[in-house]
Amino acid sequence: MKINVIGCSGAEIPGHNAPSFLLNNEIVFDAGSITSALNIKSQLRIKHIFITHAHLDHIRSIPFLTDNIILGKNRHTINLYSINPVISTIKKHLFNSSMWPDFTLIPDPENAILNLSKLRTNKPVKINDYTVTPYRVNHPVPAVGYLVEDKKSRKLFYTGDTGPTPKTWEKIKSKKLNCLIIDVSFPDRMRELAISTGHLTPQLLKEEIATMYNLPEKICITHPKPQYFKVIQSELKKTGLKNVHILKEGEIIRV
Ligand SMILES: [Zn+2]
Ligand SMILES: [Zn+2]
Repeated sequence: MKINVIGCSGAEIPGHNAPSFLLNNEIVFDAGSITSALNIKSQLRIKHIFITHAHLDHIRSIPFLTDNIILGKNRHTINLYSINPVISTIKKHLFNSSMWPDFTLIPDPENAILNLSKLRTNKPVKINDYTVTPYRVNHPVPAVGYLVEDKKSRKLFYTGDTGPTPKTWEKIKSKKLNCLIIDVSFPDRMRELAISTGHLTPQLLKEEIATMYNLPEKICITHPKPQYFKVIQSELKKTGLKNVHILKEGEIIRV
């Protein structure tokens, strides 16, 4: 699997993009920065978007992408997947003909630009050569992480935003992850804030990894607050965890 890190930042500052991970040019996980970071050709190749949760930094590109598709020569349908409460929030608060035109009906209901698809937790779906399964994670709003498996049984898990989430690791305990992309937003001194807002710190990450049944081959950190980047980096080193690195925008992850 080849994953292009379009955005992996936990705050918006010039040069730091909200979360978006592009798998083999056509499937995106989270829509934080599709339209602000990708050129139009790359945007129009995207056919499937999986959303972890409805917080704005994870969905903000969707309206602009639907707009770019309708202006393009070859209109196509974007399939947007998530669990029911996330899909409902997106429909009710974003594509409601008030905040943005309802692209689930445009240009006409049979050929709409946006198709909203509800997933059930722990139930896999097959998209092209991939099997994608949502698992609940711990965040103040309904949220899932995604397990992605390819034909060669290579496995990636992307948490989206999460605080300590031992039940998730229990659910995927039989899976040996080749790569874990996981939220570390705050430094250790903000442990209480991290827990109350559903995020991790370096020490909380270490505690999560200790509860996992199989150690992931590679651990990639997403969503750090750029304001605390250096301290998070040095605290991650001090955890002694191996094969951990903070993702950079534009980086390619090979799984
Ligand atoms: Zn969030
Ligand atoms: Zn977020």
